[in-house]
Amino acid sequence: MSTLEIKDLHVSIETEQGEKEILKGVSLVIKTGETHAIMGPNGSGKSTLASTIAGHPRYTVTSGSITLDGEDVLEMSVDERARAGLFLAMQYPVEVPGVTMTNFLRTAKTAIDGEAPALRTWTKDVKAAMDQLRIDADFAQRNVNEGFSGGEKKRVEILQLELFKPKFAVLDETDSGLDVDALKVVSEGVNRAHATGNMGTLLITHYTRILRYIKPEFVHVFVDGKVVEQGGPELADRLEDEGYDRYVAGAGSAA
Ligand code: ADP
Ligand code: MG
Ligand code: MG
Repeated sequence: MSTLEIKDLHVSIETEQGEKEILKGVSLVIKTGETHAIMGPNGSGKSTLASTIAGHPRYTVTSGSITLDGEDVLEMSVDERARAGLFLAMQYPVEVPGVTMTNFLRTAKTAIDGEAPALRTWTKDVKAAMDQLRIDADFAQRNVNEGFSGGEKKRVEILQLELFKPKFAVLDETDSGLDVDALKVVSEGVNRAHATGNMGTLLITHYTRILRYIKPEFVHVFVDGKVVEQGGPELADRLEDEGYDRYVAGAGSAA
């Protein structure tokens, strides 16, 4: 079993007005096998948390730590984080011009595992995963994300998740812009990856919709750069009914 631990994390960004603190002391412990939902209103810092775990250079950690089985994640390059078993699905997946999906997946898998996957099983695995995610076979020869619809990008994101087999997945707004059918297909993919018991998930979302298909054991309410409440799935149900108003008012913002 592996543990991803975030301890009293403070993160700032440079703005035209100077340094602005976005994360104001975030602490979380996620173990493989667990699903944690982070839910909060827009602008509360959810994507900042995801990007900081991913190692995005724009975000400066001013104090606190992120460790994976005791190893300092903040000291790792983006590539090292992937090799250590972190998978970060971005809210806006990037296009990679001139690189086909097939080449990208194989190159990334090789980089993550430190050795090339056996060609016969790999080709079969890719095809099976694509079928399950209802990704058309001709996507294999298309350039990464080039001209993909929002829903197609999300499916390809989950394709990577299933093939790379990370220890921890951070999924930021994976549900945004998906119709119900796509949401189901994508959620099934996450649930399949979970069924192995070897992955922990941080599911970041504004809406409760995806939680009908992916069931978190732990729910963290995130407001103004901090976790303000923690609970089980019943907390997500309450947020669905009541929204975030009570927290936002409590955080001192204009109510
Ligand atoms: P969420 O994902 O919860 O909507 P974000 O992490 O995207 O929140 O943003 C948190 C806060 O940080 C917001 O007030 C946002 O405007 C600000 N912020 C995030 N990134 C930047 C940036 N690159 N430049 C300026 N402000 C930013
Ligand atoms: Mg945002
Ligand atoms: Mg966001």
